[in-house]
Amino acid sequence: MRKQIAAANWKMNLTFQQGEKLLDDILRADIRLKSHRHAVFAVPFPYLLMARSEVEEETNYYVAAQNCYHKKNGAFTGEVSAEMLHSLAIPYCIIGHSERREHFHETNAMLSEKLDLCLEHFITPIFCCGEPLPIREAGTQNQFVELQLKESLFHLSADQAKMVVIAYEPIWAIGTGKTATSAQAQEMHAFVRSILASQYGPEVAGEFSILYGGSVKANNATELFACPDVDGGLVGGASLVATDFIEIMKALK
Ligand code: PEP
Repeated sequence: MRKQIAAANWKMNLTFQQGEKLLDDILRADIRLKSHRHAVFAVPFPYLLMARSEVEEETNYYVAAQNCYHKKNGAFTGEVSAEMLHSLAIPYCIIGHSERREHFHETNAMLSEKLDLCLEHFITPIFCCGEPLPIREAGTQNQFVELQLKESLFHLSADQAKMVVIAYEPIWAIGTGKTATSAQAQEMHAFVRSILASQYGPEVAGEFSILYGGSVKANNATELFACPDVDGGLVGGASLVATDFIEIMKALK
């Protein structure tokens, strides 16, 4: 079975102490994750080592960075490279979150460089794609997402590409409380898998974990994750509340 992932995206929230307590509270619930299930905590850069040491005794609990820079190294004050993350043994990194595309003007071309650098450093990228509201209203979400995948991912070989986790996140559902229905999520995930199949063949496409993101909550996770092509979620707001994220972890297939 392909990996089922509950990924927490803390964004720029919580103090160090609050983050530590949140992880403690989640770990205290003692949720044992079978081998195909992963819990991933994408924490702010200064908390990576704390989070890594919190989860290191746990099976299938991992830490992620929320971003890395698209260049290898050099005079880029304030940026963090994939090589630096690798030197801290960070196994996952979110790439191309819509907030970074919007506020930091990240392009599909930049994200393709980030994917390369993550893979070069054995970091599993969680690659975000998804359409804004006007595109959804115009009914052109398929073409929009297809282009994001083509321009950032499709230069990779099948062996490289299948290391990538995809997160489909309709922008109109992120942080808005407006979740895609499970039918909308399944339709889009099946479409994403079909594009992956046309590029890499159906067998490889079947190996991709495709997460849904956009107002995943404790009370809708089970229905969303039950969809055949939804392999877990990338969770913002609800990942900041231990009891909610625990329920979301339990909802994994
Ligand atoms: C996200 O951070 O990627 C996200 C989907 O946020 P939220 O769950 O708050 O909508």
